Amino acid sequence: MPSNHDTPPTWLTAFWHILKLEQTRSYDDRAVAGGLDKFLSHWETELTSFLSSTPQLSNTYLTKYSDLNKQQRQEWVSGWLQTLNTTELTNPPTPISIYPDTPDHHDKSKIVSGSNKAQRTTSNNASQISTRLNPDVTIDRLRGISAKISDRFGKLGVFSIRDLLYFFPRRHIDYSQIALISDIKPDQETTLHGVVWESRAVSMGSGGRLKSTEAIISDESGNIKITWFGQSFLARTIKANSRIAVSGKATVYRGQIVLQSPEYDILSDSASPINTSRHVPIYSLTSGITSRNLRRFMWQCIREWLQGINDHIPQEITGRCNLMPLQDAISEAHFPSNELALFNSRRRLAFDELFTLQIAVLRRRAELQKTESSITIIPDQTVLTSFEKSLSFPLTPAQKRCIDEIITDLSQGTSPMNRLLQGEVGSGKTIVTLTALIATITSGYQGSIMVPTEVLAEQHFQTLKTLFNDATSPPKNNNILTIQLPSFDRTMQVALLTGSTRARAKSEIIDKLKSCEIDLIIGTHTLIESDIEIPKLGLAVMDEQHRFGVLQRSELKQKGSENPHSLVMSATPIPRTLSLTLYGDLDVSTIDSLPPGRQSIQTRWIGPDRREVAYGFISKQIEAGRQAFIIYPLIDESDAIEAKSAIEDHKILSRDIFPQCNVGLLHGRMSSKEKDKVMRAFRDKEIHILISTAVVEVGIDIPNATVMMIESADRFGLSQLHQFRGRVGRGEHKSYCILVSDDPSELAKERLAALENINDGFKLAEVDLELRGPGDFFGTRQSGLPDLKMAKLSDRDILEIARREASGVLKEDPDLSFEKHVGISERVSAFLSRVTDEST
Ligand code: ADP
Ligand code: MG
Repeated sequence: MPSNHDTPPTWLTAFWHILKLEQTRSYDDRAVAGGLDKFLSHWETELTSFLSSTPQLSNTYLTKYSDLNKQQRQEWVSGWLQTLNTTELTNPPTPISIYPDTPDHHDKSKIVSGSNKAQRTTSNNASQISTRLNPDVTIDRLRGISAKISDRFGKLGVFSIRDLLYFFPRRHIDYSQIALISDIKPDQETTLHGVVWESRAVSMGSGGRLKSTEAIISDESGNIKITWFGQSFLARTIKANSRIAVSGKATVYRGQIVLQSPEYDILSDSASPINTSRHVPIYSLTSGITSRNLRRFMWQCIREWLQGINDHIPQEITGRCNLMPLQDAISEAHFPSNELALFNSRRRLAFDELFTLQIAVLRRRAELQKTESSITIIPDQTVLTSFEKSLSFPLTPAQKRCIDEIITDLSQGTSPMNRLLQGEVGSGKTIVTLTALIATITSGYQGSIMVPTEVLAEQHFQTLKTLFNDATSPPKNNNILTIQLPSFDRTMQVALLTGSTRARAKSEIIDKLKSCEIDLIIGTHTLIESDIEIPKLGLAVMDEQHRFGVLQRSELKQKGSENPHSLVMSATPIPRTLSLTLYGDLDVSTIDSLPPGRQSIQTRWIGPDRREVAYGFISKQIEAGRQAFIIYPLIDESDAIEAKSAIEDHKILSRDIFPQCNVGLLHGRMSSKEKDKVMRAFRDKEIHILISTAVVEVGIDIPNATVMMIESADRFGLSQLHQFRGRVGRGEHKSYCILVSDDPSELAKERLAALENINDGFKLAEVDLELRGPGDFFGTRQSGLPDLKMAKLSDRDILEIARREASGVLKEDPDLSFEKHVGISERVSAFLSRVTDEST
């Protein structure tokens, strides 16, 4: 830490940031490496002069922070913050940045104890060559990367220099505290700097087959033995008398504290340690690329190529939002100087992701709204009222509100509706949607419902049949229904079109859609086939949206000759941050309460020792005429995850455990025809127990099923488990959900307990999003959720800022045609092409 510095406010600004960080970290005194006391003692002279010029400060602020309890720390921090906020330093609204605008001028070691010294030694001449640095060249331009190693990087999705720079570590280990050998305690992560006394290759293990390296390292306080198992070649690198840094966890061996296979760096004046003595990055690896190699390539890449990365966010935005410059953010994301820098780096990179996403989403929204006029739906109120009256139950207030919101959009005539209707499983979305469709039809337009599976399409069709039981005339064709709505002056025709619709029926439906004789079409992906035209399409509905790629929404809309309205239904409750991100181009209606009288599903989690009991319980339910689901996370035994395999267990369960039952099997590698066949058999009660992987999740209705048993429940997200649970309890019988977890971690126990106690999907979704990232939220990439590396969707504040800035940019420059927005425009295009790839 240099004591000569020329910009006094810098440390105060840094201090301000550290205090803010300390607040978000709940006062664990880890916001800055070494703790706040250490930080302040570095700046003692400046601190003294600062205090003397600010009489409002009392000595209480000088209490040792590490001695305080949490409550006192909180007061200490807020006391300081108040003081700092009233000094000229942070006088609002000036943005505060501890990072000067251009990375070349700054010396981070001034801010906090830095271990990053060598990192930017090339910065000064780099600016001269930056014009010819193109980060989009392939990574074999780096020293030491052969064609073979390039291929291995390809497995990690890294092809270009830019890819490598954006290949962020999964986490860091804090090896920044350097200890004396005499202070080492067993089982603690520790870093030592010392001199190698001796180092030699040794043969160990039975028959001496394990060729290893043994070294004795010493510092002023003592010495310690270090062994690198199976790495005898190290004896040639780690030479006697060299200075070395080692980081790892100490253990006790034969009564002595030793280090086994620690990370190491040979210390020299010219190179910084990158495997020890700092916050060390931990990357996802693939075979043939070691951590050491990856760190070395990354270090080289940052020093030689980082200058080629242009900051695409204009300075007015980075300044206003106090964002770290992009080059710094990338560098700090890999080799952070300290926790504060890491925090700011992640904040900047997360901002970039969310900002790009928001630009994409807002532009699409603007485009949709630009599309000239929309269809104006003028519903026949009399028909709607008699329809509502004809139902066997009153609509809930939430349903009524959603219907109002939708009908208002439909009848406005300004721009087409783009609305998400979300509500828990069983909250009654179908009736809401149907009301909107009837409104559309009474106004002389056609409607469509697209669902992800044939069984679901059939189920919707069946629902309509049942709903209008009395009003329905006998169908000529099994796929077309004629319905007389009460008070409607004509009949309404509803058709079902799926992959297994017979050719003759299909061509009849296609013709009648074209001639507008069919008012409502229900179907699967078949509906977006090219030969289908729905000329008077007024409202396109999609069910269980997250099973479709985000962009498929627009395809269906092109089926009409005008701009139809679109309504998306989702049964996965989505916390607001996520819906803003995923569906930022949609308005949202939420059915936030269930119809009265729903029974809650009794939920218990059990260990493997109770599995037999659970099987016994299932047998009893089957004997009583009910059905059960058993869910497995994977379809095959996998090396990586020892999850129970559905296929394997299906054999055992059907043969040994439930010999008297028909046990069906459903998994993702079956064709959709096969899947539909099994689902049908289950619906028709030919199958008693359905063994399934996560594919069953989508909204199928089996009222007779009363048990949902989920194996390896801790592998699923809470929302997903809640979705599974919603598959039972849909009929009159008391229903149960059994979660089996072989060896749950503390976190997993917490989550399973949440499920036992919380029945509200929105609450669970919030808990889930907090506990796991958005990537896991829906289970898989099927979510259509763009790949976010840095952003966590619990980052509400960053999301709000990103959304605000994105809409600011688009207001000023809707086409992103300004020179200063070229970089943004490129990012957005790259992002959109990735999303499109994934959803096809
Ligand atoms: P989801 O939101 O899962 O699609 P559905 O629309 O399938 O839910 O409704 C689930 C069940 O609840 C259906 O049997 C439906 O008839 C019934 N239902 C819908 N609204 C109400 C209500 N207001 N009161 C009572 N039952 C209702
Ligand atoms: Mg539904």
